[in-house]
Amino acid sequence: MSGHPRLILKPGRAKPFLNRHMWLFAGSVDAIEGDPKDGDPIDIVSNTGAFVARGIFNSQSKIRARLYCWEPDRDLDATFFRERLTTALRHRERLGLTGPGRAYRLLNSEGDGVSGCVIDVYDRWAAVQFTALGVANRAEMFVEILNELISPKGIYLRTEKGVGQLEGLGAQDGILDGEVPPEQIEIREHDLTFLVNLAEGQKTGFYLDQRANRAAVMRYAPKSRALDAFCYTGGFGLNLAASGVESVLGIDGSESALDLARTNARRNGLDERCSFRKADVFVAMEELAQQGERFGTVVLDPPKFARGRSAVPDALRGYRRLITLGLRLLESDGILVMCCCSGLISAEMIEEVLSQVAASERRFVQLLERRGADADHPIALSCPESEYLKCLILRVVQTK
Ligand code: SAH
Repeated sequence: MSGHPRLILKPGRAKPFLNRHMWLFAGSVDAIEGDPKDGDPIDIVSNTGAFVARGIFNSQSKIRARLYCWEPDRDLDATFFRERLTTALRHRERLGLTGPGRAYRLLNSEGDGVSGCVIDVYDRWAAVQFTALGVANRAEMFVEILNELISPKGIYLRTEKGVGQLEGLGAQDGILDGEVPPEQIEIREHDLTFLVNLAEGQKTGFYLDQRANRAAVMRYAPKSRALDAFCYTGGFGLNLAASGVESVLGIDGSESALDLARTNARRNGLDERCSFRKADVFVAMEELAQQGERFGTVVLDPPKFARGRSAVPDALRGYRRLITLGLRLLESDGILVMCCCSGLISAEMIEEVLSQVAASERRFVQLLERRGADADHPIALSCPESEYLKCLILRVVQTK
């Protein structure tokens, strides 16, 4: 035996964990043997005492243990995690995403078998985000592994709001190792460059998950005007402008995001075709519709609307309103891009809303592509809750 403390599962509760689900909630726990401290390795055993998995314990989280390993003779040490990161890096290298000036997600938490740890790389800097105490306590180990694998100039810690309390994390944003990143890091995406503010930007600075979706949309977009609603630093809009779309209007509520969007447009020689407006998207789209404005492409990429189950009905109302306004603003034979990053809302739920709105707005809506996050954001099939991003590309034809 490993000598680790043991978490004994209630009878009949072992199956999901044998199937490699990574979140073990308090409700499945029958007893804890030994005296594990938060952040310590713990062996998960069935009620008959059979080894199920090895995880990391946290009494402060509803997720009482996160599971990392299903081999009884392996420890959760630096060798183990180095292997996970090496495997993850190999995949990004194969995708052709690594190298100077590139930006990619090197590690996608559960999707890469390291629950609670996201690592994004921007040119020569790495941004690390911990959403679990067990991995946050091992920050130094991750720093060492990153230095070995990609020798970044600096490694910066970003913490998602609210996670600290859920997990009992005391972490503060700041430099973990090496040089502090400059305020603006230049990265390349498709044929464009973008400036990223790793320390202050949303997420870790850039929505890397939408990379392939931005390219996919270009394939369908008519050359007439495009509306990039919730544009952030210009991701979809600039790609559309570069693909030959006549003009792009980007709308966002964040002035700092828009500043960067304008700079990004200028630096790519696209400023004459792109304008950006600070507004609430709901209000601005309403006004545009009333003024009779029309667009060939409308991209809707709102923030997460549903944070908990009780918020789902309200979130669906929000998506319904956006879709209604989007359809009203589209020229006939236009392209609607509907994104949803609420994990609790499925593509099917959005499609249901789309079909209802299409009927009441008298539009014929064709689903062209049902997409997710880019391939450097893999989803562990054993942990389907880690899937969140949906991106539907639709063609909308006006009917009488
Ligand atoms: N499409 C972007 C990412 C969008 S993230 C890209 O490809 O990079 C969601 C954005 O919505 C954020 O930039 C946030 O500032 C903005 N936002 C959230 N609520 C808003 C609202 N009601 N009106 C306008 N912008 C909003």
